[in-house]
Amino acid sequence: MSSPQTALQPVDSYREEIFASLMPLVPEELPLADADGAVLAEDVTAAWPLPGFDNSAMDGYAVVAADVAAASADHPVTLPVDAEAAAGDTTSRTLSSGRVIKIMTGALLPAGADAVVPVEWTDGGSERVTITRTADKGHAVRRAGDDARPGDLLLSAGTRLGPAQIGVLAASGHGAIIARRRPRVAVISTGDELAEPGTPLVPGLIWDSNSYMLAAAARQAGCDVTRHTVLRDNPASVLAAIELAAATVDLLVTSGGVSMGGEHDAVKAALSILGSVGFRKVAMQPGMPQGFGLLGSPPRTPIFTLPGNPVSALVSFRIFVEPSVKVLQGLQVPPINTGRFPLSARVTSPAGRRSFLRGVLDRQAGTVAPLTGQNSHQIASLARADVLIVVPEADTQLAAGTEVDIVDLP
Ligand code: AMP
Ligand code: MG
Repeated sequence: MSSPQTALQPVDSYREEIFASLMPLVPEELPLADADGAVLAEDVTAAWPLPGFDNSAMDGYAVVAADVAAASADHPVTLPVDAEAAAGDTTSRTLSSGRVIKIMTGALLPAGADAVVPVEWTDGGSERVTITRTADKGHAVRRAGDDARPGDLLLSAGTRLGPAQIGVLAASGHGAIIARRRPRVAVISTGDELAEPGTPLVPGLIWDSNSYMLAAAARQAGCDVTRHTVLRDNPASVLAAIELAAATVDLLVTSGGVSMGGEHDAVKAALSILGSVGFRKVAMQPGMPQGFGLLGSPPRTPIFTLPGNPVSALVSFRIFVEPSVKVLQGLQVPPINTGRFPLSARVTSPAGRRSFLRGVLDRQAGTVAPLTGQNSHQIASLARADVLIVVPEADTQLAAGTEVDIVDLP
């Protein structure tokens, strides 16, 4: 057990240690409907041209461009309509010169046609159509392969699939892909004092904010999240619940019960006996007491035991858990800091610890303002913050105007 005198572990080396012990998920075949947020494990190429066939970009008339070259409002050209081609009509038609085929957006372009006259440039006729403007060769025609050709790289391995990427997979006919899925995460709050939001309280109890907050953070980090009901501060039942949960997820996140390791710190008491979860004091504020380790048999399930104070919990999530989700999906870990801005007011910080202070970015002024209320329990100020202001370990105060690193809070 670490004593308060034990040297604090630097933030960066703690992160490195965590990332090095995480095994990326094994790539698997995912149906397209489950693929958003997954990370491709292999390149995806086009097997067919995209679009797959020449088709119309507008509702109008497929023509031989030369036939309408002279069309104008003063000298309209009137031509017979042979047929009508709608989207989804798979009949292959051939257009003869001097005739037209009425055509809808997305319909197969008849062989021989080389332009589409938009319906707006015509009288809209069904048997004969009068055309009042000339359409150049290729007008309103989408050529097969104008977006991608067979063999073209559509998405490379390591791409996280968002809406547009899911779209191109579907458009190119991929019903499934090989990828690392959204990690499955279980979020568990612990504490005898915790009550369910929406239920009445008596003094001495508080509403559980962490399980809702951390579940939201994990979802935002791209995970499939299960939020468990609160565990009471009983090491035996905490251990049983954690081991049960670990068997069904890729990552476990708990909050509370890791401070000093007394009998009330049930998470630390329960997991210490396993030997595979380490409890540290990390040189940061908030978020000093941390636990991380691996549970169960291979593939082992990583667990983060975050401190209970809500601000400590969310800051710890942002600094340690969120990048770990990236590692599980085989992605690069981005730098902690996301920008640099001058302070609008002075800040203070304890010696030897990196402070992550709640702040508000003023993009117009180009400054970042520290919020009042920087204690770890003060979640109201957390809810007003959009960034964390980083005060390095060596600094105990920074004057207004000093440029500081910031960490955005998504
Ligand atoms: P602990 O880490 O269990 O020692 O808790 C530290 C502080 O965080 C205490 O004031 C707890 O009441 C508070 N806390 C612990 N868990 C939660 C939670 N799920 N929601 C809100 N506050 C919590
Ligand atoms: Mg507690």
